[in-house]
Amino acid sequence: MTVPYPNTKLYIAGNWVDAIGGETIDVMNPVTGKPIGNVAHARIADLDLAIDAAQSGFKVWKETSAYNRYKMMRNAAMNLRDRIDEVADILTQEQGKPLAQSKAETNLAIDIIDWFAEEGRRTYGRIIPARIDGVQQMVIKEPVGPVAGFTPWNFPLNQSVRKISAAIAAGCSIIIKAAEETPASTAALVKCFADAEIPAGVINLVYGIPSEISEYLIPHTIIKKVTFTGSTAVGKQLASLAGNHMKKVTMELGGHAPAIVCEDANIDTALKVLVENKYRNAGQVCVSPTRFIVHEKCFNEFVKRFTEMVKNIKVGNGLDPETQMGPLAHDRRVESIESFVTDAVNKGAKIETGGNRIGNEGYFFEPTVLTEVSLDTRIMNEEPFGPIAPIIPFKNFDDAIEEANRLNYGLAAYAYSTSAESIRELGSRIESGMISINHHGIALIETPFGGIKDSGYGSEGGLEAIEGYLNTKFITQKSF
Ligand code: NAD
Repeated sequence: MTVPYPNTKLYIAGNWVDAIGGETIDVMNPVTGKPIGNVAHARIADLDLAIDAAQSGFKVWKETSAYNRYKMMRNAAMNLRDRIDEVADILTQEQGKPLAQSKAETNLAIDIIDWFAEEGRRTYGRIIPARIDGVQQMVIKEPVGPVAGFTPWNFPLNQSVRKISAAIAAGCSIIIKAAEETPASTAALVKCFADAEIPAGVINLVYGIPSEISEYLIPHTIIKKVTFTGSTAVGKQLASLAGNHMKKVTMELGGHAPAIVCEDANIDTALKVLVENKYRNAGQVCVSPTRFIVHEKCFNEFVKRFTEMVKNIKVGNGLDPETQMGPLAHDRRVESIESFVTDAVNKGAKIETGGNRIGNEGYFFEPTVLTEVSLDTRIMNEEPFGPIAPIIPFKNFDDAIEEANRLNYGLAAYAYSTSAESIRELGSRIESGMISINHHGIALIETPFGGIKDSGYGSEGGLEAIEGYLNTKFITQKSF
């Protein structure tokens, strides 16, 4: 049964409130392209309240013991576990992904809260042996302070929960500016924390005009850390603004993941895993396999079988249990994907399947496969963030590695081979923050998640994630 789609308020200082000016932004149903609800639109006066709340929330939270923070976070995870069906339903209604994927995202969000809750109890310092008798040298970890977090619409729960959980496990407070396209699922997540009696002001949630909010919050003296997930172009703007104000930063930006299939690969495994992960969430995934680089000896077989599998993907309303791929999340994505296909075809690419939007209602696009794609096409250079797979052949192993490293992105990379020597070389020579060989093993919360080069810096997973929300303090003391 479908849950009625809720309108979303701001969450400031422990209260769900309308914007002071009463403004709202429409939320569109990606299946119909028509409004399904709205979200409160914060302006500067609302942000000032959020800043005050984050400051007073931080004062209380940093004095709360790590053990008590852990208990409250575990209760938040339990709340989300109890509400999984409702939250997943709302997520599909506003974002479009199939319900099974929304449930998987919600389950992962629970796991993330639990993991950071535990990890917050292990923000250990150390004692360094001193050179002088009576001196004690200590290194301790302290929360950086109030955080400003900016999250996108492709994983409204997971992008927000990683930031919220890492920040509050470390003892920080946070103002989250989540995506206006998908506000209600993030609000449902925040409600799980609110209902776990996490003190007022520790978590605040706002929506509005992204640039207006980031330009106000990032330079603000109260904000001590900035964390952003989104495109490289916006990430560079925000990182430079943060740099001007000497703010600590985590940037999880775009990618253009190469997927190399070697001559000796297990093709059945490669096809199954790559097709599934290419079209998951309609390709709107920062670690989505993007450039398929396949050895010429297995190229024809790979393209034929890949295309057959893609033709069988059932596209439809994510609430229909049969659906394997939903619509794109918003209208800008449809225009963008159309322009990637047109550009590639104008430069000689062949469409093996797909290539068009579906119908005139909503934001549906056909799962698409392209071959004969030249390296000067936009799709081979810019992040497409949609359901298109360009497949190109390679002759020598070194050529495949060179192509994988050609772009200035470095988020995820994938490779398939049964040779121990090739597996070792792929792992060591591909320039990427994360490499998954012979399976898809990226994004588990206990493992690092982040990029290099234009894909950003900092980590949203593993021990490294919480480190980004901590200052290191050195204290040396001498007894009399
Ligand atoms: P976009 O660059 O306009 O927005 C991406 C995200 O950044 C959105 O959530 C948006 O609200 C936010 N944003 C934009 N300008 C901002 C600003 N000045 N301050 C703060 N936040 C800002 O593009 P889009 O059309 O929403 O998405 C298209 C591109 O964004 C994709 O092609 C992809 O490269 C990237 N993207 C990446 C991720 C990711 O997981 N890394 C997620 C969503 C989008």
